[in-house]
Amino acid sequence: MNCLDCLTGQHLDVLAVGVCVDCGAAMCLEHAYIEVVHRTTVVPLNRVVQVEPPARLLTCMTCAAARQAAGVASTHQGRLPHGR
Ligand SMILES: [Zn+2]
Ligand SMILES: [Zn+2]
Repeated sequence: MNCLDCLTGQHLDVLAVGVCVDCGAAMCLEHAYIEVVHRTTVVPLNRVVQVEPPARLLTCMTCAAARQAAGVASTHQGRLPHGR
């Protein structure tokens, strides 16, 4: 499978390393956005706490930007490839 963003940029032979959880596009490492997310659980007295270890969320750059615009991404923990 090849990276969708590379294909649209005329780079035809770049292999994908993953698939965006939001739109399903295949992405190379350069076009992937890797976010660290903490799952939560409810402990006695209805307190919501984060659990360890953190999980990984893989999205394309387009969906990462949309998530950040909507305020649902933890931008301080994400990784944007260089150039962004
Ligand atoms: Zn790519
Ligand atoms: Zn996407």
